[in-house]
Amino acid sequence: MGNITFTMIKPEAVEAGNSGAILNKIEAAGFRIVAMKKVHLSEERAGSFYEVHKERPFYGELVEYMCGGPIIAAILEKENAVLDFRTLIGATNPSEAAEGTIRAEFAESLAKNAVHGSDSDENASIEADFHFSTSERF
Ligand code: GDP
Repeated sequence: MGNITFTMIKPEAVEAGNSGAILNKIEAAGFRIVAMKKVHLSEERAGSFYEVHKERPFYGELVEYMCGGPIIAAILEKENAVLDFRTLIGATNPSEAAEGTIRAEFAESLAKNAVHGSDSDENASIEADFHFSTSERF
């Protein structure tokens, strides 16, 4: 038993058929999938998920992008899950992401950067609760 992080495979990566390859990398890195679903977020749900970014100039663009197609949401478990997952996905901007990271391999751009990863244990818990009930976790 480790702690959890929350991830989303973002619309352009799902659309491009990269979900399987990304999930492979996640499991190969030692994360256990606790919960997972494919879902098309409404504009309201996407806006609510990214509420913390409301004051940032790209908020509208981010919400529009995240509700533009289905995503795959998942809760992942591993020791040191939050930090290790941020390392696995790489920097927000794929041009700065280390070689071998998920964003270096699959992201299209700073905005369309393939995956989300929680930035703290507290946010991991909030984000997991946003998408999953306790009966959907195993
Ligand atoms: P993360 O924690 O690495 O996902 O990065 P942030 O919390 O800073 O940003 C959240 C998400 O907003 C990123 O993953 C990108 O999809 C998007 N984003 C960040 N910066 C920009 C930007 O300058 N323009 C646009 N359009 N989207 C951005």
